[in-house]
Amino acid sequence: MDDCIFCRIARGEIPSKKVYEDAEILGFQDINPQAPVHFMLIPKKHIASLSAVTPDDAGVLGRMLALSGRLAREQGSPDGYRTIINTGRIGRQDVMHLHIHVIGGPEPLGRMLPKTNV
Ligand code: AMP
Ligand code: ZN
Repeated sequence: MDDCIFCRIARGEIPSKKVYEDAEILGFQDINPQAPVHFMLIPKKHIASLSAVTPDDAGVLGRMLALSGRLAREQGSPDGYRTIINTGRIGRQDVMHLHIHVIGGPEPLGRMLPKTNV
């Protein structure tokens, strides 16, 4: 995907503050953090959203989740964290390249969703 912003970050065309990289996965700091710890894990391969994954993607998705705990601890969230995958219009996904937000810090976070959603 030539003009996908996260594909461009994965290719190194747009700078990012990396927290992790391997052949299939990139982790980088969110440019607009919502908490003291806020980074993203993405597959380097373009997958538009969680609702677009195929069974072939299960391995990389599992590896992204399996990395989250160690990286969260390394980044300063020692005792848990929150993962968020916004998906599609209803999930208010802004960047259409699948990403897992990993959010935390030294203190507990606020509510998962504001009350207006219930
Ligand atoms: P979402 O609403 O789940 O699609 O989240 C998109 C996230 O990408 C937001 O938290 C943005 O702050 C973040 N973001 C957008 N552009 C960049 C960028 N160039 N580098 C790092 N994070 C970004
Ligand atoms: Zn992409």
